[in-house]
Amino acid sequence: MGFSAVIVAAGVGARAGPGEAKQWRMLAGRPVIRWSAEALLRAGADELVVMVADGQQARACEALAGLTGWRLAVGGAARSDSVKAGLAALGGGEDAIVLVHDAARPLVRGEHVERLLAALADAPGAILALPLADTLKREAGQDDGAARIADTVPRAGLWRAQTPQGFRLGALKAAYAAWPAHEEPTDEAIVLERAGLAVTLVPGDPALAKLTYPEDFAMAELMAGAARSLRVGQGIDAHRFGPGDGVWLCGVLIAHDKALIGHSDADAGLHAITDAVLGAIGEGDIGDHFPPSDPKWRDAASDQFLLHAAGLVAARGGRIANVDVTLVCERPKIKPHREAMRVRLAELLALPLAAVSVKATTMEGMGFTGREEGLLAQAVAMVELPA
Ligand code: MG
Repeated sequence: MGFSAVIVAAGVGARAGPGEAKQWRMLAGRPVIRWSAEALLRAGADELVVMVADGQQARACEALAGLTGWRLAVGGAARSDSVKAGLAALGGGEDAIVLVHDAARPLVRGEHVERLLAALADAPGAILALPLADTLKREAGQDDGAARIADTVPRAGLWRAQTPQGFRLGALKAAYAAWPAHEEPTDEAIVLERAGLAVTLVPGDPALAKLTYPEDFAMAELMAGAARSLRVGQGIDAHRFGPGDGVWLCGVLIAHDKALIGHSDADAGLHAITDAVLGAIGEGDIGDHFPPSDPKWRDAASDQFLLHAAGLVAARGGRIANVDVTLVCERPKIKPHREAMRVRLAELLALPLAAVSVKATTMEGMGFTGREEGLLAQAVAMVELPA
């Protein structure tokens, strides 16, 4: 089922403390707003309109750089003004489905969208919400600075509304048209409720809690980690020694009395790491992407193979967490070049040096590496993908 989405990011979020508005702050390495935009696009949004305050367009473009399928629109003073402007900016007929989402709920995932879409098959509106678990107290007022309880409010049947909230576009537009001008709705569901239309409660997720106060960011950081899955991949490569005066290893040229022979520059280190990264995302092996039969790759610098694999990870909204490669040979001696290799790999993969390891060993004279017929490289890569 296709859908459009509106992300509301025009607010200032004063309760989140001093500094930038919360939608532009970083959460686990990415701007808060980018989490929602990536998740909704990945969930299949045909159209995504991001509502920002006037003057924030450049900030939004920077935060969403590299993503496709979204566009900006300028929101209004009140949240509902932004939502109405967003709805007006959408294509789609009366029956089209639109999801309205707060940028301050960054940890939305595909499964949340699926649940909403399923509920919208037979209702004009559906929202993610959580049944209340805590006992509710009403405050009687302040007494010497301490709040006193007036009474306990029954919680049976009470839910906390979250977003995304999903609607038939025509129903939401008509309900907004009938909404009183002097009143500000606290969400979109209330607008439909007031119009007498059915809105379904769909089980939400604690991870969809709104970032409101400074301390909410620490909890969201923890949940952001839990919302990502770790994948590991391994790669092995070997190349034969032949005549020459140097070898390429991990993107570094080392003087030697032989060269490694191959179709490309025969950098077994980069090839093993590339295969490890491809393996972590189930994308076959280096030969699938760069066939040795293709003359284009003759004598090619192997850093482009690794950059291609890293690009496939980024395109999935993932990131490489670390790589570790072991080079097996009697000669050349690797140790004097190890740091240069780490620096080169860190640069290629945009990783901190601590996330890149290069090790070396010999086979103590045994086997093809021991006889110096060739060199073996073995690598692992850890990749973090959106869950
Ligand atoms: Mg190779």
